[in-house]
Amino acid sequence: MEDNMIGNAGGDGSSVCRLCPRNCGVDRADGKKGICGCDATVRVARIALHFWEEPCISGEAGSGAVFFSGCPLHCIFCQNRRISGGAGREIGIRELAESFLSLQAQGAANINLVTPTHFVPQICEALRIAKAEGLVLPIVYNTSSYETAETLDLLNGMVDIYLPDLKYTDGVLAERYSHAKDYPEVAKAALDVMVNQVGKPVFDDNGMMKKGVIVRHLALPGHGRDSREALRYLWEHFGNRIYVSIMNQYTPPKQDLRYPNLNRKLSEQAYDRLVSYAISLGMEQAFVQEGDTAEESFIPDFDLMPEKIR
Ligand code: SF4
Repeated sequence: MEDNMIGNAGGDGSSVCRLCPRNCGVDRADGKKGICGCDATVRVARIALHFWEEPCISGEAGSGAVFFSGCPLHCIFCQNRRISGGAGREIGIRELAESFLSLQAQGAANINLVTPTHFVPQICEALRIAKAEGLVLPIVYNTSSYETAETLDLLNGMVDIYLPDLKYTDGVLAERYSHAKDYPEVAKAALDVMVNQVGKPVFDDNGMMKKGVIVRHLALPGHGRDSREALRYLWEHFGNRIYVSIMNQYTPPKQDLRYPNLNRKLSEQAYDRLVSYAISLGMEQAFVQEGDTAEESFIPDFDLMPEKIR
């Protein structure tokens, strides 16, 4: 077995993968692929300093981002369609550990694991190696929240900051746009586990987050009601135990979708109304975006690693 393959791709000592709620049951160590599109070989699309996260994550130095290829969710409006579809290159566990150390040497504020769910056992192994060799940065787990409690348990003590989405609260929308009717209850349960693991937000003297949870909500055009419900839930359920990031950067895919709402950007007025709603709730800890961030240039360029997944 090569060092970029592991036997327990399932995270439970077996090689049958049940790492996420898709529960595919395929033997990824044997080269099979589930809905995430990946076997047990880790693939990455980009490893670089990244400046477009929330200010307390990116800071001035940049976040040390590792964008993993593939995705268990496959939203029809995916903002990073090429990498969720598998674009990227194979990377061994030792090389991944060395990448974390290299990002630290470049001055990264943290290690930011982007769409990591389907590689959690391999990532944990790489983190153990890197920590033994001097990695001290906070570890950020950047996820859709389509997670099982068992997989999140593997991360307990390993991750310092969770950067999860709450995409929808309505199962009809979750089924229509992400083929995951159970997303709302799965995500809510996952958020509970994350908050219990890392606790209340902690910042250093420079305002950089050291521990905590920032829940992101990407406002979709034409779905103000669900966005309001997401914010209401987050405020009433977690209060000041989390930060919330209200995002306006929805970018329509190049090809028209069959849902006209999703073929346009979010209007400034709709975003302002959502922010006003958050204020009316009494929400105190929220990040908002200013101006027109829904430009293609806001989405990182992944051309550096164009190799397609087989
Ligand atoms: S991680 Fe991939 S193979 Fe495993 S259950 Fe999820 S979608 Fe299926």
